[in-house]
Amino acid sequence: METPSAGNVKFFSGESIPLELHRVRMVQKLNLWSIEHRLKSIQEAGFNSFLLSSRDVFLDMLTDSGTNAMSDKQTASMLEADDSYAGSQSFCRMEDSIREVFGKQLVLPVHQGRAAEHIISQVFIKKGDVVPMNYHFTTSKAHIELAGGKVLEIFTDEALNIASNCPFKGNIDLQKLEKVIADYGADRVAYIRMEASTNLIGGQPFSLENLKEVRKLASRHNIMIVMDASLIGENAYFIKRREAGYQNTSIKEILLEMCDLADIVYFSSRKVSSSRGGGIIMNRRDLFDRMRDLVPLFEGFLTYGGMSVREIEAMAVGLMETLDESVISQSPSFVEYAVNQLAARGIPVVTPAGALGCHVDAKGFLSHVPQAQYSAGALVAAFYLVSGCRGMERGTISTDRDENGNDVLADMELMRLAFPRRVFTLSQAMFVVDRLTWLYKNRELVGGLQFKEEPKVLRFFMGRLEPVSDWPVRLMQRFRAELGSEF
Ligand SMILES: *Cc1c(COP(=O)(O)O)cnc(C)c1O
Repeated sequence: METPSAGNVKFFSGESIPLELHRVRMVQKLNLWSIEHRLKSIQEAGFNSFLLSSRDVFLDMLTDSGTNAMSDKQTASMLEADDSYAGSQSFCRMEDSIREVFGKQLVLPVHQGRAAEHIISQVFIKKGDVVPMNYHFTTSKAHIELAGGKVLEIFTDEALNIASNCPFKGNIDLQKLEKVIADYGADRVAYIRMEASTNLIGGQPFSLENLKEVRKLASRHNIMIVMDASLIGENAYFIKRREAGYQNTSIKEILLEMCDLADIVYFSSRKVSSSRGGGIIMNRRDLFDRMRDLVPLFEGFLTYGGMSVREIEAMAVGLMETLDESVISQSPSFVEYAVNQLAARGIPVVTPAGALGCHVDAKGFLSHVPQAQYSAGALVAAFYLVSGCRGMERGTISTDRDENGNDVLADMELMRLAFPRRVFTLSQAMFVVDRLTWLYKNRELVGGLQFKEEPKVLRFFMGRLEPVSDWPVRLMQRFRAELGSEF
């Protein structure tokens, strides 16, 4: 049977350029304000990009959560939603999609990814338990700790190397995992958490080979595997591109194989299906029964789980579209373009290119700014100032203090520039590279930040900071001196 191109179209010039395999049929106007306006905006936002108003942002690269472009078919499906409180047909359609795409029969709907983490943590973690994982995610860690558990990160030595050509930096180190089980005893391991396309270390995938080994070990010790599948589509895409033996396997077969190796799979459909909501899915009835009663308590009745039925319809269609390589390849190919362009200019960026976004290494970019002055946070503020583009700090600010109130310096100090799925064009990606190149040339002007108002938990969301000197003003003056009246 003939099929259309699934992506990775070659340009005869030999240049590596991502090609959009969709056309734009609805647009949203963007504002690129003056740098004077942007300075005021970032000051008012306490130098925290989460507190910027979107009207002051040009390219919003904060996150891919709930910001992906929906397809015409997703939008159309929203008109057919069934508003029934119980037994909604929209939920039945979502169940059908999940069974087909992930191969899990039992579905608990939740309002977003962290709600799944809340329920799983409350049910399966006892005080003093440990949860080994390839790497933590902010909300997963917070929920595990809230339930009295402890996160153990057992990544490989390659995981934190900024410049690497290791295809699977998201793998778990199997020897360290064996040691954790021996040290703590299998009874105290609540479950092993595998995060697809490990978000905080640069959207880096794990291999199927690694997951299979983790499965063997888990089965031998009777430990559950819980897979965070928020970025599973991209992880499957990287397996097809990078893992020996999978080049001719379909994304669908890879997804089914991945899910089959986990006892519980949960996801944020703000990401994986370009809609909003989430789910916890499994085949084992005993696990389902233990979690089921918490859904009506915290989320909503079992056939909507806090989601609007319109979003449930969009999710059912969006999950099916995840199987289409021309859809799932879009974000990774834009990330790859930006990463390669930056690396070619000597700008420190996490390689190989991963899922979700391009991750600029702030320790390398601003090597004169101490980590204790939040170099990644400073880089995000400086980049907004010179470009109007909003990235996200993924470093020490995103790590809460320890029980004694000391700052915990993050393993990696990153500015993440997300490429939400099918949202930005190539010239916008080029603009990002261009402004970042200018900032890199003028990086010595950028200074650090300190906290003015600091929440205790997940401080990166609402915390307010200030610059340690008047560096933002000096950066603005350099911009004006070099670029005249440019925006
Ligand atoms: C976004 C994300 C979550 C949380 O999902 P929300 O829908 O934003 O609550 C959990 N895990 C990973 C890996 C994520 O990327």
